[in-house]
Amino acid sequence: MAAPVHLTFLGGLGEIGRNCAALEAHGRIVLLDCGQLFPDDMPGVDAVLPDFSWLLERADRLEACVVTHAHEDHIGGLPYLLRALRERGVSLPIHGAPFTLGMVRGKLSAAGIPVPDLVPLGDHVRMPIGPFDCEFLPVTHSTPSGLMTVFGTPQGRILHSSDFKLDPTPVDGRVTDLDRVRELAADGGIRLLLADSTNAGSAGSSSSESTIGPVLRQVFDDNEGRRIIVGAFSSHVHRIQQVADAAAATGRTLVVMGPSMVRNVTLARELGLLRVSDRMLATDQELDDLDPARTCVVCTGSQGEPRAALNLMGQGRHRFVTVGDHDTVVFSSHPIPGNEAAVARLHNALARRGVRLVHSGQLGVHTTGHGKADELLALHDAADPDLFIPVHGEYAHLVAHEDLALGRGMPADRVLRCTDGDRVKLTGAGVAHAGRVPDGYVMVDESGRPVSEDLLEERRAVSGEGFVFVRVVVDGRRGRLDGRPVVESRGWMEPDERSTWHDEVAAEVVDALEGPVASGERDEAELARLARRATGRLVSRRTGRRPVLVPVVEVRSGHVDRS
Ligand SMILES: [Zn+2]
Ligand SMILES: [Zn+2]
Repeated sequence: MAAPVHLTFLGGLGEIGRNCAALEAHGRIVLLDCGQLFPDDMPGVDAVLPDFSWLLERADRLEACVVTHAHEDHIGGLPYLLRALRERGVSLPIHGAPFTLGMVRGKLSAAGIPVPDLVPLGDHVRMPIGPFDCEFLPVTHSTPSGLMTVFGTPQGRILHSSDFKLDPTPVDGRVTDLDRVRELAADGGIRLLLADSTNAGSAGSSSSESTIGPVLRQVFDDNEGRRIIVGAFSSHVHRIQQVADAAAATGRTLVVMGPSMVRNVTLARELGLLRVSDRMLATDQELDDLDPARTCVVCTGSQGEPRAALNLMGQGRHRFVTVGDHDTVVFSSHPIPGNEAAVARLHNALARRGVRLVHSGQLGVHTTGHGKADELLALHDAADPDLFIPVHGEYAHLVAHEDLALGRGMPADRVLRCTDGDRVKLTGAGVAHAGRVPDGYVMVDESGRPVSEDLLEERRAVSGEGFVFVRVVVDGRRGRLDGRPVVESRGWMEPDERSTWHDEVAAEVVDALEGPVASGERDEAELARLARRATGRLVSRRTGRRPVLVPVVEVRSGHVDRS
């Protein structure tokens, strides 16, 4: 009997982000992607990672990581995982397309992590990785060189779609290879399909990336005589290509702005993925010497990210660009769910400075990189899999994808709904749940230090209501308070009203502690509890607020130094 294959989903099934799965046969593990999730409403959290604890316990069995494409939700967790593996003496080889590996190398170098073996993959390459006989097929997506992976396993082929769309006319002519998928289906079949669910709930098909070029060209023509600033994702090389083409066609110099934009444009040009002549390129520092009417700036920040170029321009704080009524800003992207409010604020800030705005709500200046329902069904038709697990999506996306498969006639017992932390077993009998592994959000700050749920909760409380600090010194020998309590607060009351409120808090705390101290209470924790209760009572009764309370009581039993 053939050996079973296990799949363990560490992230990406139940959220868009931190995609990471482990495939395992004969006790050897290959990791498929290692992404991060961008934190939403998590003060001081820089990245949300998969919980790697299950993986780290099996570090000696980890053969390699396959990265499907260069997006952060697929490679952003690598620095953290590689650091943790290094501490265990393990170096993990990474397989991916050259562009993806270039991005990985950049990330690791920036984080000061030694770069492990990077194994470049080309389209249609077939090679053994760990226990699997892998084949890599081109897919079209919103970053170049995306790869679908066929894992030849003891239980038949597992096909992982990666993030993909079916674009009949992609900018680089590199189409998603459904023909090869059909061949594999006819020759031995696809046992299990894992496919992108992001747009499963959207009917029809996505429009081609190459439809954006003519619209951009029209925008450039309509804005003759004005400076044009285009906000786009720095990994979306084909979008940048079309911006560059529109700039070239209208005689504009292209200024590439923002560290990630500069890095990715350089990498893509080196790899021949982006064609922009040296002649038409300029840096932000040369901006002053350029005629604004013959300039196109391409920059990051179209999601309203606070520290990115567009936001700094909106705030009037950008080092090189001061925007005004001679500027047109094109948002060549769509707000990612969760970013709508930040993008709306940015639109307002720019409009207030007189900027003319062009965005995807008015004109076709953006299209998605994820296939919609008809494209997903075309993949299902081509692969005609025995078994199906929807991946890459929020919970509702996974369910919508499941419905598509069922609607296509797949029997319900051949579709398995999985979420983060699920471990499943593939055998001759089919695919079934086989336990759970830790799947909690692992939050880290900018330095990579973990941020616990409790710490985050405290930060939210402080950011919402502020804090009140009370310090009481007890003269244990005399059985009385030593001087008045010190009260401080931030974010609770208006600064000019604070001192009156602080006096009230101090008086309330004195009232609450005097009696117990006089009758012999010396336990600092108990006195702090009484101080907290007294402060809380006053604060909530008089102000209706719930700031974080920080009482500190110190009992001095010896001589109290009053100096
Ligand atoms: Zn992607
Ligand atoms: Zn993705």
